[in-house]
Amino acid sequence: MSTPSRLRIAVDLDGVLAETMTAWCTLANHEFGTRLTIDDIDGWASWRKLGVSKDDFFRLLDEAWDDWEQVPPTEPGLAAKVRKVETFGSLDIVTGRSRKTVPSAKNWLAHQGIPYERFIRVDGWRDKVLLNYDVYIDDAPDLMPLVSRNPAMRAILYERPWNREISTMRGVVRVKGWKQIPQVLREIF
Ligand SMILES: [Mg+2]
Repeated sequence: MSTPSRLRIAVDLDGVLAETMTAWCTLANHEFGTRLTIDDIDGWASWRKLGVSKDDFFRLLDEAWDDWEQVPPTEPGLAAKVRKVETFGSLDIVTGRSRKTVPSAKNWLAHQGIPYERFIRVDGWRDKVLLNYDVYIDDAPDLMPLVSRNPAMRAILYERPWNREISTMRGVVRVKGWKQIPQVLREIF
């Protein structure tokens, strides 16, 4: 395929840059008296299995962002790793975060020193593919088939406990960490 001179890259926030689920587990454990860890979140929509309602799941996710200074990055040295990926083109943060958590998310990105061009909020993850990026770096299992169906798009699936079940499909490459991403971009474009 022809190589776009400057890739348009969409990077997800929760679970790919920000380790929101550790803060989520702390809040859930406090509220429900559970002893959940991030490894218990082993499926998408796993709130059902955990006995947490969908509303509570997203409410706690918002609450985790209220205390954005307590949200760790997914990896050590994340800003430097993202900077290497940014050299491939323009990098936008594309997130389904609720409107009220956007200021916290932006504070977090600045505090972590994560470089990006634009911060784009979408109402649902399905809307991400409507933005026609060349590549999506995301952890959402449900996004992968949508990207895979479009021959102009690629996805880099950031491996998490909740997306291990995803099978191989066209245009989707799985990575274990940010360090692998530059090599993947060189290989697929
Ligand atoms: Mg995510």
